[in-house]
Amino acid sequence: MDTAWVAWATVVLVTVAAAAALVVVVRRRDRCSAEAARTDALTGLGNRDALAERIARLLAEGRAPGLLLLDLDGFRDVNDTLGHTAGDALLRQVAGVLHRTVAEESQVTRLGGDEFAVLVPGPVTGEELEVLAKRVLVGLSMGGFTSGEVPLDVQGTIGIALAGPDGSSAGELLQHADVAMYAAKHARAGVLRYDPAQDPHSTNALEVLGQLRQAMDEDQLVVHYQPKVSGGGTGRLLGFEALVRWQHPVRGLLPPAAFLPLVERTRLIQPLTRWVLLTAVRQVASWRAQGLDTTISVNISAATLDEGLLGMVEEALALTRWPAQQLVLEITETAIVIDPAGARRTVQRLRERGVRVSVDDFGAGATSLVHLRGLAVHELKVDRQFVTELLAHPEDEVIVSSVIALAHRLGLVVVAEGVEDPDTAERLRAMGCDELQGYLFARPLPAAEALRWARAEFGTTTGSAPEPG
Ligand code: C2E
Ligand code: CA
Ligand code: CA
Repeated sequence: MDTAWVAWATVVLVTVAAAAALVVVVRRRDRCSAEAARTDALTGLGNRDALAERIARLLAEGRAPGLLLLDLDGFRDVNDTLGHTAGDALLRQVAGVLHRTVAEESQVTRLGGDEFAVLVPGPVTGEELEVLAKRVLVGLSMGGFTSGEVPLDVQGTIGIALAGPDGSSAGELLQHADVAMYAAKHARAGVLRYDPAQDPHSTNALEVLGQLRQAMDEDQLVVHYQPKVSGGGTGRLLGFEALVRWQHPVRGLLPPAAFLPLVERTRLIQPLTRWVLLTAVRQVASWRAQGLDTTISVNISAATLDEGLLGMVEEALALTRWPAQQLVLEITETAIVIDPAGARRTVQRLRERGVRVSVDDFGAGATSLVHLRGLAVHELKVDRQFVTELLAHPEDEVIVSSVIALAHRLGLVVVAEGVEDPDTAERLRAMGCDELQGYLFARPLPAAEALRWARAEFGTTTGSAPEPG
């Protein structure tokens, strides 16, 4: 009886112990997998879930955390040219730099891809966050990144959001930092703080977008036209660039910077682009009937560089019987970088249709050359920043003359925009720049004034753009 009881008790004990051990193991495994679920496998940093949890905790404690959202510029190029292993190695190096740059209590997270976040527990001011953001960018630029023997130049863009004014939940704070980062990329500003006016989700912006929808129906949008003249010879008029403005009933004439970045984050950019394209092509068709024959360039936002654009172009050409060869679409490097394969397809189809494509703001992005490869464009527009103060900065001159040489070797036409004085124009002509555009010749003008200007400067006989070499 006794031995039976002992045996039975032993069995029970062993079972209980085993069960307890099992519970411990399972719990530990749970904890491990919970930890794994919050860790980024590549860098060992916390991931998005971990960040959201920490923000929620800080907010619940009544702290006011600040958030920096960092996106690397041109990371895709590293992946494309050096391969994913090099890309992964770079992300680990960046994680290391971030870790060393920020204070102990701040949390560095990898949100995915080439996006990182730094959470500052607070209390912290917007100014302090800006200082930190700039320190991070300096840290990156001096990071000494390499892939094997190859030194890599890493730059980033940071959006800043602060709990309280910029968001009262983890989701809101993340979203606002994302909006700020996107605005900073767009403005090529390096660092920007969240601004509700640039946020398509904010009440203010919703109001603006609502008004803009109405503005399109009520003809409050206007297109101004800025001429391009030839660099060589007698300086012929080669064409006009269409630039949109908003004649706001209360705020007056608004430049594109006041509403386009907002519109570009919504679907409204499609009807806006279509409106500008149709208006501009109708305008040059009407000028032609009045004896002014020229080309027209229209700016195309990244979000509209797709199948839909081909339809819009067909529509504009059919409605006006405008020749495709006298339509130029200006796309930015950013648009190409966002979806290189898609951009290549669309550009190819435009080319097959006879429409010319120009790469706008060339040199402003970090990525120029790689994405030009295999892209059927006709023209490069050297970014204004290198042109306007060309004579004051010898480096700008080197950049511009290299771009001209490069473009010519690729058989492309080069346009310099932002030409403001005769000496710069002279220098550009000497460098072999094909086309010039800028305040020196004319500011963007309302249609009637543009026609008057063209007649006064050139009479009515004008040519169209030269065939690319
Ligand atoms: P962008 O395509 O680079 O256009 C050139 C901008 O430089 C224009 O500003 C023009 O007024 C300005 N500019 C021209 N010559 C000079 C000069 O000599 N010196 C200086 N400092 N500036 C000069 P704007 O009209 O404010 O347009 C700004 C940007 O908005 C454009 O830059 C373009 O990216 C965008 N944009 C304008 N219209 C449209 C549009 O219809 N659709 C799209 N998607 N974007 C547009
Ligand atoms: Ca342009
Ligand atoms: Ca430009």
